Amino acid sequence: MSVIDPRTVLLLTGLMSGLMSLVLYALKRNYPASIKGLGEWSAALLLLFMGGLLVAGRGKLPNLVSISVSSFLLWCGLYLAYVGTQRFFGVRPRIGPWMTLITGFALVQVWFTLIEPSYHMRLVLTTVVTAGLSGVHAWRVARQGSLTFARGLAVGVLVFLLAAQVMRLVTSFSMPFPTNAAFLDTSPFQLIYVTSFAFSILLFSISTVLMATDRLRIELQHLANHDSLTNALTRRRLDDACRSELERCRRHGRSMALLIMDLDHFKVVNDTFGHQAGDQTLINFVARVNALLRGPDQLGRFGGEEFVALLPDTTLDEALLVAERIRDACALADQAPACTVSIGVTTNRKDNDTVDTLLARADAALYRAKAGGRNRIETA
Ligand code: GH3
Ligand code: MG
Ligand code: MG
Repeated sequence: MSVIDPRTVLLLTGLMSGLMSLVLYALKRNYPASIKGLGEWSAALLLLFMGGLLVAGRGKLPNLVSISVSSFLLWCGLYLAYVGTQRFFGVRPRIGPWMTLITGFALVQVWFTLIEPSYHMRLVLTTVVTAGLSGVHAWRVARQGSLTFARGLAVGVLVFLLAAQVMRLVTSFSMPFPTNAAFLDTSPFQLIYVTSFAFSILLFSISTVLMATDRLRIELQHLANHDSLTNALTRRRLDDACRSELERCRRHGRSMALLIMDLDHFKVVNDTFGHQAGDQTLINFVARVNALLRGPDQLGRFGGEEFVALLPDTTLDEALLVAERIRDACALADQAPACTVSIGVTTNRKDNDTVDTLLARADAALYRAKAGGRNRIETA
């Protein structure tokens, strides 16, 4: 005879699920709206909490409530958790067919509770629904690229839940079926199943908090490193990239190039077409340049209509070719408003070059390109 009884386990973990529901609700309120699924996860935990409480009331509440209503709440909770995951990963859920299926299963369950009571049939239904939802859910999380700790935890917990349900179904065929009164007995098997389900839900909710926090960190990192209008790198981020690239060049005796690009007469674009058209011109410019750069090249916005491209492993001649392609693409662009670009190009030459001296040289070259009539490239 075990000292822990399943009813206590259910009540305690149910309570913890309720608290995790509150945590997720708080995250939904405070995290950016771009992080989806938190509301569904929170509501799912609330349903699981309520379902768990009703299950714990077995023997004290009417069977319809403690068996059928509780199962329906638990299944809806499991499904809503899956909907939360779909929303989190930007997948549109198909709620209609799934809810029809779950409601159908619930009605069959009512039949085996009230009309033709059968613990075994109810157990088959519960394990099939729980295992099915856990399997689909685990598959959805596992498909989202490389596994982080948070996603690994979610997949692990869901696969465990699936395996526990399959085991439960298989063993139920070889073991005597308990009566209603004995459902919450303290046999080791019963304890294992109840505990594994309850703790899986708790661990899953922890994994959702971790996944949301991971996502927030990625979004904040992106915001810190990218210009919000053009999505080019920020000046600080490109400065850092230039510094580490220059260090690498010094160690391996390689050449890197910097291009400073400034749109010509941009003030006129704003004055003639309006600020919004000016903004769009900047966005188009970045898209155009990014399309011409190679994978390791990086483009940053240094302020206003001035951009810097870092080209690792690039000689002056190669950098000039790239600059020429960029200048051509701007001069020939058929999108209004038309706007040409002047470019200053330089490469690291001396051992004592720093990012500042490189930028100063490229800036001096840009100044000459402007003075020489604009829509030109100069080197230094
Ligand atoms: P130059 O050929 O000598 O470079 O002339 P310019 O008109 O491009 O240079 P100037 O420095 O006189 O003007 C830059 C203009 O860029 C002024 C400023 O309002 C505009 N600008 C800076 N940032 C933005 C922005 O984010 N959006 C828009 N629409 N305009 C911007
Ligand atoms: Mg300009
Ligand atoms: Mg400028």
